[in-house]
Amino acid sequence: DAETERDAVLDALDNVAARLADEKSYLTDLDSAIGDADHGANMQRGFGKAAEKRDEFEELDPNEVVQNVGKTLISNVGGAAGPLYGGSIMFASQELEDGITADTSVAFAETYLDKVKDRGGAEVGSKTMVDALVPAVHTYKKSIEQDDLPPLSALAKAVDAAERGVAFTVPLKALKGRASFLDWRSVGHQDPGATSTLFILEALLATAET
Ligand code: ADP
Ligand code: MG
Ligand code: MG
Repeated sequence: DAETERDAVLDALDNVAARLADEKSYLTDLDSAIGDADHGANMQRGFGKAAEKRDEFEELDPNEVVQNVGKTLISNVGGAAGPLYGGSIMFASQELEDGITADTSVAFAETYLDKVKDRGGAEVGSKTMVDALVPAVHTYKKSIEQDDLPPLSALAKAVDAAERGVAFTVPLKALKGRASFLDWRSVGHQDPGATSTLFILEALLATAET
C-alpha cells in the first residue's frame, strides 16, 4: 500500500544520501580533473538536505515524496547537475501518482531520462550523466517488459549497464557542460555526473535488496 511504498522511498532516500556522502571526495576528485571540483559537495548537500526532511515527508504519498526530493535538489544543488537531477526527478514523479509498480517504475525511469536529455541537450557520447542513464533505463525497461524479470533483477541489470556507461565516458571528449570547455583535454577522464548516477542506482539496488 501507499504507506509501505512511502517507507521504501524514504529508505531509498537515506541510502542514496549516505552513499553520496561516502563518495563526496571521490566525486570531487573526478570533477576537479574536468570541472570545478564541486560535484561531490553538490550531490552530498542536495541529497543530504532532502534526507533531513524525512519527518516532513512522512505525511506524504510516495509520488509526493519523490516530487519534494526533486524540489529540494533544485533549491540546494547549484551548477548543472542540480536542475538536471532535481527538475527531472520532480517532473517524472507524476508517473508514480497511482503507486509504485514495475510498470510505473519503468515510466518514471523513461520520463526522467527524457527530461534530462531535453533539458541538457546531451546524447549518448556527450560525456555526461546521459551516458550512464541511457543504458540503465533501456536495460531496466527491456528486462521488465520483454524478459519479464522482477524489478529487483531488472535493477541489478540496469546497474551493470550503468557501470559500463560510466567506463564508456573515459575515452570521450566532453560535448556538454563545463568539461566541454577543456575540449580534447577532457579525454581520459571519467565523467562525474555519470558516476553519481551509477552510485544512486547502486544505492537504490541496495535498498531494494534489503
Ligand atoms: P557544474 O559543472 O555546473 O559544476 P556539477 O559539477 O555538479 O555541475 O555537475 C557536473 C556534471 O553534470 C557533469 O559531470 C555531467 O555529467 C553533468 N552535466 C553537465 N552538463 C550537462 C548537460 N548539458 N546534460 C547532461 N548532463 C550534464
Ligand atoms: Mg562541477
Ligand atoms: Mg559548479
